[in-house]
Amino acid sequence: MYVKRVIAFLLLLRCSKVQSMTLAGTKSYEELRAAIVDAENKYGLGGKVFLNSDELRADRVLRTMKQAELQSPNRGLPAAGMHFFDAKPLIESSAVFKVLKLMPKGAVLHLHNSAAVSSNWVIKNLTYRQEAKLCQLEERYYFTVRSLHNCPDNQTRSIHSIRAEQQQNDTDAFDIWLESLINMKMKPTRNRSASIDELWLDFESCFDAIKGFLQYKPFFEAYHWQLLHEFHSDNVYHIELRMSFARVFDADGKEYGPVEVAQILHRIVDEFRRQHSTFHGVKLILAKHKNMSDGELDSALKLYESLSTTFPGFVTGFDLVGQEDSNRSLKSFASLLMQPPISSGLPRYFFHAGEIVGYFSEANENVIDAVLLDAKRIGHGYALMKHPILWHAVRRKQIVLEVCPISNQVLGLVRDLRNHPASFYIAQNIPITITSDDPGFWDATGVTFDFYYAFMAFAPQVGLGFLKQLIWDSIRYSSLSDEERRNVTIIMETQWDAFVRELTD
Ligand SMILES: [Zn+2]
Repeated sequence: MYVKRVIAFLLLLRCSKVQSMTLAGTKSYEELRAAIVDAENKYGLGGKVFLNSDELRADRVLRTMKQAELQSPNRGLPAAGMHFFDAKPLIESSAVFKVLKLMPKGAVLHLHNSAAVSSNWVIKNLTYRQEAKLCQLEERYYFTVRSLHNCPDNQTRSIHSIRAEQQQNDTDAFDIWLESLINMKMKPTRNRSASIDELWLDFESCFDAIKGFLQYKPFFEAYHWQLLHEFHSDNVYHIELRMSFARVFDADGKEYGPVEVAQILHRIVDEFRRQHSTFHGVKLILAKHKNMSDGELDSALKLYESLSTTFPGFVTGFDLVGQEDSNRSLKSFASLLMQPPISSGLPRYFFHAGEIVGYFSEANENVIDAVLLDAKRIGHGYALMKHPILWHAVRRKQIVLEVCPISNQVLGLVRDLRNHPASFYIAQNIPITITSDDPGFWDATGVTFDFYYAFMAFAPQVGLGFLKQLIWDSIRYSSLSDEERRNVTIIMETQWDAFVRELTD
């Protein structure tokens, strides 16, 4: 009501007589100005969230910290305006970051399993196991455990023996070089102005390099346990994980298909939950690369049906991934996606769409197709701002945008995150969730670094209410059932109250 009154007043200002009357006195001008600021704050995301007296005190503490950090005279450019690769040490020393790290962050809804775990952990753990091998194919290197069909024995060597050949001093350098195979920060493109195509080439090379390790069951298990550990340590209680369900094999050479892979993961999650009472669980989204034929999509949809009927409530969605402007558009798949060759009904779609900066290509319009195909959430939605009719529909239908700040920066969509379109979505009260996409490939363990940018770069004017809205929305827009939602809410409320107490103390 209040907001409507301010808007009505602003419309009245268009009448010159009222304008001259209002601006005649300084007080009226100041009052009007304050009313506009207040109305905008209330209109945006988190503006109407109720804060109790403890939360209001915590909000004041947090806003003071935030203001001090954004206005620090010692910094030419605040960390919020810098590229993550340069800003990371500054962010780690920030008081606001330490608060965000402590904050319970609800659910992470957009995460790719093979890019989720810190590259450093992969090098210091998996590559030190006796089974670890490196395959060299022309100028490319791939981690593996057994000889690949395209990488014969004479091009595959034990990492242990390569490391043993290094001089003592060179062992660290060797490990750093190994890590550069799966970390964007260590690629040559970091130090120069690279095109989006070049960045994507490097990015996809990281997925290719690590794939062979995740096909080996003991590595697959250790890796996913570490994934849960890294996110739970970052105060995340629920994860929705995108993965391709590639086959794995064990030390005896036994092969495990997609259903068995889901079973293995289910067991890992159950065991992790038993050992960590505040971790609620994981849901899986089958994610296949867009670079496929209609026949392959047909098979992928049938695989989704098989997985989701074998594991109802565990495998909960379907997605298509890959660089949008160099792969098939959603429109080109639309007829199959609308009428999938399955009897269990339309899959729950969580499409990547609008992770792009171009104009006038069919791929640029993927966000239109994602909405028409009834996506429950949209991965990124960076380009949605260019579609004024559509973003009204997205808000009306409450389709949440899975916003991945650092991912968008590393992959070249925007350098200064203060210019990210999420600022507009927040101002327009379009639902978003903050998530980390592929943090293992750029040293952004968990999701707190992404929250830092969301809080400091996207919305400098917001406080605790915004964060509260984000974390409760992450549960609201998850695939949890009503009962699961109630259970995770109990965990969250306890953790949130403890967090607010700690902040005010
Ligand atoms: Zn993604």
